[in-house]
Amino acid sequence: MNVKSMIATLLLMVAGLKTTGAQKFIKVWSGTRFELFRISEVDSVQFVCLATDIYLSQETLELKESETYQLTATVYPVDADDKTIAWSSSESNVASVDGKGLVTAIAAGEAVITATATDGSGVKAECRVTVSKAGGGTGFLTCPDDNHPHAIDLGLPSGTMWCCCNVGASTPEGYGGYYAWGETSEKSVYNWDTYAYGSSWNNCVDIGSDIAGTSYDVAHVSMGVPWRMPSTAQQQELINKCSRQWTQQNGVNGILVTGPSGGQVFLPAAGSRWNGELNYAGGGGYYWSSSLYPYGSYGAYDLLLDSEGWGWDYYLHRYYGLSVRAVCP
Ligand SMILES: [Zn+2]
Repeated sequence: MNVKSMIATLLLMVAGLKTTGAQKFIKVWSGTRFELFRISEVDSVQFVCLATDIYLSQETLELKESETYQLTATVYPVDADDKTIAWSSSESNVASVDGKGLVTAIAAGEAVITATATDGSGVKAECRVTVSKAGGGTGFLTCPDDNHPHAIDLGLPSGTMWCCCNVGASTPEGYGGYYAWGETSEKSVYNWDTYAYGSSWNNCVDIGSDIAGTSYDVAHVSMGVPWRMPSTAQQQELINKCSRQWTQQNGVNGILVTGPSGGQVFLPAAGSRWNGELNYAGGGGYYWSSSLYPYGSYGAYDLLLDSEGWGWDYYLHRYYGLSVRAVCP
């Protein structure tokens, strides 16, 4: 055993100090200094193997608010007698740690998590934790300025970020353009006769079952990388993970969507184009997904919203002119 890693703890006899003859002493490290005890005062000696090193599973951590991370500590030498660790945080209002090393990010800032051996050796190890605002990253919780479009991080599990504006709009409440599914420019009349990729419900051109990121994706074509049309799964996630409030923004009806991060996007009730008409503007919103309707290639899925609710599992004939709200990445 390494002498430095040992400590002798003494059980002293309470009485009977002897003063006769030549004395022999035992030198004992008390934790702060050496002390001498007469051998005659020592009843028994116990050698304890102390910790010499602690290794943490991470020396640095980057977490977002409310995220957790389980730190693990390995105590050396492997035959240390007491491997109990005490956990502490330098800034528990930034990152807290429980008695088992579970770190919880509380608020943006920096904190140092310290694991200290409790066997009296004084050995410790540190992990520097940097906490960033939930929804930070490359997205925003709300528009930071008027230079739209912005990627809004709603805090969705998939990591999908939603654009603050409709395709073709320059403000969050702007209706923007209306596009037939797969077309990338507006027109005055929307029906089978004018549709670029089909002439009737049973005569449609196959442009793929998911047009996101293709030359048929108006978000991708008009806004560029990394924008694209949302799939019906992404629209479904938006509806399942976010809350919805029918409201007005700058006098425009629509829904204010609030995500788990607190991030918000406004979806105006821009209506839809059919033949030469604009219908239901102010009453309902219709937003194309990139996903073909699987039970009939004449249709594609869209998100529908109005004052009563919203849903992702609607479909319309592909020639309708609907809004598009882009997502990224
Ligand atoms: Zn914006």
